[in-house]
Amino acid sequence: SERLFGGFRKTSERLSSNLTGVVGTARLDDTTLDDVEDALILSDLGPSAAARIRARLAEKRFGLEISERELKEAVAEEIAAILRPVARPLEIVAFPRPQVILVIGVNGSGKTTTIAKLAHWFQEEDYGVMLAAGDTFRAAAIGQLATWADRIGAPIVRGPEGGDPASVVFDGVKAATEQGIDALVVDTAGRLQNKRELMDELAKIRRVLGRLNPEAPHDVVLVLDATNGQNALSQIDVFKEVAGVTGLIMTKLDGTARGGVLVAAAEQYGLPIHAIGVGEKIDDLRPFDPDLVARVIA
Ligand code: GDP
Repeated sequence: SERLFGGFRKTSERLSSNLTGVVGTARLDDTTLDDVEDALILSDLGPSAAARIRARLAEKRFGLEISERELKEAVAEEIAAILRPVARPLEIVAFPRPQVILVIGVNGSGKTTTIAKLAHWFQEEDYGVMLAAGDTFRAAAIGQLATWADRIGAPIVRGPEGGDPASVVFDGVKAATEQGIDALVVDTAGRLQNKRELMDELAKIRRVLGRLNPEAPHDVVLVLDATNGQNALSQIDVFKEVAGVTGLIMTKLDGTARGGVLVAAAEQYGLPIHAIGVGEKIDDLRPFDPDLVARVIA
């Protein structure tokens, strides 16, 4: 929890300073509620979550005395209420194995690192994990994934640079099935500049997977970089359209004051949030604990 606090430090400082001084008359009146709403928007929680939190505060406490500390606690409680319904760890449940987890997201979002962290997490839970280097567009991406695979001691299936991602995934599922692997975690290209191509590529991966196992991919996890603030949200729209998304992992919550976007994402999309990234190291992926996050942010 201490390390998680470190994770959200800047976000928490921003929200806290935005909320400081809003309790003017010591009673919760319209001016104070306006200021709270503005503070939440300025802290990247987004207009819709901000309005919802304002309405809930008004409903519960309008006209009542409130101190700054009580206000922050009340805000934390409302944030928790938004986050709780979407908190859902990624669980290995597929039968037959392997569970196929497609990981999508724009280049630079932390996708490769998150794949390694996730694989490590499963390994710690005694699951057998295999990686598939489905981002064949960038040679560096294949190399980087291979380096992580080596580091965590996970087998990896890779093809040539410029090769067909769907065939890498096909090989991955075959190898994982033969070797009794529990989870196949698949890296994919993140070229949003060419939406059409990316869409076709992901659709082909889906088709090939679906022929091997109608349930696959079991998960389509979108990795989002919190430092992108509201732009991270528009990526959800795009990837929902391009690939379908079953859940989110938000990264880089350690380095940014824009972590409030996690709340905006939860409120506006209601997609499961599986975990959060709070650093560059292999064990810097945290389970998404809504109460802890809410308490830390506000
Ligand atoms: P990809 O292009 O999406 O595969 O992104 P990478 O996995 O290569 O990550 C891009 C950069 O972000 C790297 O320098 C990572 O170390 C860094 N990174 C990834 N996740 C986190 C995180 O949670 N916190 C911080 N501070 N850096 C991260």
